[in-house]
Amino acid sequence: MPSETRPNLSPEETLDPQDWDKLRALGHQMVDDMFAHMQSLREQPVWQPYPETARREIGGPLPTAPEDAKKVYETFKTNILPYPNGNLHPRFWGWVQGTGTPLGALSELLAATMNPNVGGGNHGAAYVETQVLDWLKEIFGFPRTAGGLLVSGGSMANFVALAVARNAKAGFDIRAEGLTGKTPMTVYGSVEMHSSLSKTVELLGLGNRFFRRIPVNDAYEIDLAALRASILRDIANGLKPICVIGNAGTVNTGATDDLVALANLAREFDMWFHVDGAFGAWAYTLLAHRARLRGLERADSLAFDLHKWFYAPFEAGAVLIRSDSAHFQAFTVTPPYLQHTGRGPHGGQNWFTDYGLQLSRGFRALKIWMSFKTFGLDKLSRLYAQNISQAQYLASLVHRSPHLELTAPHPLNIVCFRYVAPHHSDTQLNALNEELLGRLQDSGIAVPSGTTLRGKFSLRVAIVNHRSRRDDFDLLVQATERIGAELVQAGY
Ligand SMILES: *Cc1c(COP(=O)(O)O)cnc(C)c1O
Repeated sequence: MPSETRPNLSPEETLDPQDWDKLRALGHQMVDDMFAHMQSLREQPVWQPYPETARREIGGPLPTAPEDAKKVYETFKTNILPYPNGNLHPRFWGWVQGTGTPLGALSELLAATMNPNVGGGNHGAAYVETQVLDWLKEIFGFPRTAGGLLVSGGSMANFVALAVARNAKAGFDIRAEGLTGKTPMTVYGSVEMHSSLSKTVELLGLGNRFFRRIPVNDAYEIDLAALRASILRDIANGLKPICVIGNAGTVNTGATDDLVALANLAREFDMWFHVDGAFGAWAYTLLAHRARLRGLERADSLAFDLHKWFYAPFEAGAVLIRSDSAHFQAFTVTPPYLQHTGRGPHGGQNWFTDYGLQLSRGFRALKIWMSFKTFGLDKLSRLYAQNISQAQYLASLVHRSPHLELTAPHPLNIVCFRYVAPHHSDTQLNALNEELLGRLQDSGIAVPSGTTLRGKFSLRVAIVNHRSRRDDFDLLVQATERIGAELVQAGY
């Protein structure tokens, strides 16, 4: 070919480094820095507000030209790393947010390096997920033949489970027909259910109007008589009850519904029995708590997190579904370009895309597998037990303090309490405690979150933290009493 007709090829580019040694050295520095960060958590404030200067440093115009990776990393180190959400700190007990582990961080590096698409197939990562699911089934008393999937967290686990429940119990081919013109289906659970279940019911097209939120008793457990009455009323009105949801550890107070009674009721009315055990399900591994969770192993589906208890880094949750075929039938779609060939990397039996919404999926199984192997379930369970006994310890401190009162039972790892002052109405105490919580969080000493229980605004301490020690709760109580007294002095 004459040279003048040859296309003008520019050199080809890649995102791999030109100088591997330079990036490798930066990588080693990152690992060293991150370990120093994790080792010194206790000396850092739990949380501090994000400064405007840092906001400017991470912003700026859209980057179109390259910048040295080391400089980018320095910006991270000065403007992002020092301002965490706080959840790694030994005195973070807000909402229900796990702490992660150094081993988990390393696992994420390995997983991202392999960067497999775990939609399925005949490769190591897919088998690791299958193995992890098998261990999880064993722990929660599900048969090896059950379906299951690792997902982003409890919300997605609830969504996948209820999608299967809806399709299995609708009584017609809902994937073909949709919901138009059909008898409304009703779903039941207590008023203490997690908000993700509302989103789920809405997105599944079932309608909030048909989502029955049943009152709870003094222990914040579902009122079984009210539940039965509601089901019977709906049947009498021509509606179709399809699912009852049990809580294994409510987000507000850690309450667990009578799961045996719910399993029986579900069988009686031919409903699906789902358990939301986001964190509480893990108490099933503790002999002392298993009795309270009895019935969980009878669930048609179980949703739980691995990034709350189990302490894996975000994101990781799981759903187990007793009927593998019901699980598969709800999600399987195989267009020609995804046809499983039976050989090559697309062979194998592990097709997770047939069990959930995601096609491309990350290797979240690796951090779970490495944690199971490295720590062992016994140690993880001891840490759950430690968190529960820390909750009891905190409750005893609150009980002994003349200035504090418990505002709910504390059956698991959550303690709700408030500051009290003489001659204050609930309204005044609510204002006082809201301000107290804000000041406590701003102080960087400790981070509980807040909730309102039967009209009483409360500090809520949810312990899924493997770094907390008893003296951390002493500090919390001291700080709460001090700030409370300051507020009363200031006229609150
Ligand atoms: C946290 C939580 C969820 C939602 O889980 P995510 O991992 O945040 O999506 C659902 N139910 C309960 C009881 C929870 O505590």
